[in-house]
Amino acid sequence: MIARFGRGVHALRQALLDLLFPPRCVACRRGDVWFCAACRQAIEKILPPICAKCGRPLLRKPCPYCQKLPLQIDGTRATAFFEGALREAIHAFKYARRPELAQPLGELLADYLTAFPLPADALVAVPLHSARERARGYNQSRLLARVLSDRCGLPVWDNVLTRTRVTLPQVELAAAARRENVHAAFAADARVAGTRILLIDDVCTTGATMEACGLALKARGAQAVWGLAIARTR
Ligand SMILES: [Zn+2]
Ligand SMILES: [Zn+2]
Repeated sequence: MIARFGRGVHALRQALLDLLFPPRCVACRRGDVWFCAACRQAIEKILPPICAKCGRPLLRKPCPYCQKLPLQIDGTRATAFFEGALREAIHAFKYARRPELAQPLGELLADYLTAFPLPADALVAVPLHSARERARGYNQSRLLARVLSDRCGLPVWDNVLTRTRVTLPQVELAAAARRENVHAAFAADARVAGTRILLIDDVCTTGATMEACGLALKARGAQAVWGLAIARTR
């Protein structure tokens, strides 16, 4: 009863806020949704041919990125590059308290996974440190994983992966410093033994965060670890 009342209050508050501040596309400032169909359709997707390992467009073989710094997990994928309207949307999702953007952004992951399936038993969101999650009010990757779960049917496993220390945002670091920054920053639970995990994140830079998560999961016996992000930096 109290829970229902609480939800009612929340819905009413949301309706009032929408009335006072109607949704506008965070990228083009038009329309009455947070990320409009026109902006979503304009996103330039990363499509095959791609490197089977790091998921970058394959301009020549072997992949120069994987030759230089081979990935230590099974592979990573991103739906598009981190630029233009998509960049605006992800930025608003993370830093402007727009959890509503989980829906359209999570749909991008679902569309990708439908077109290009990856082997997985469960979804695991890249965790935030508890202090950062408290400050933001939500873990954006977990919200994405839930939207994806609704579409693909895979369960979201919360609490099998934790961030054990605060790390600097990867985008602020040079490529070489990124592995060092996230090294041993994650710990996994023994429940992942023998399972295939699909890690979910918003943005992938060099893949170092996914890798650090993957190594923690594999240390606990995960059979396979793939990573899927909405966007990757060029
Ligand atoms: Zn738009
Ligand atoms: Zn590669």
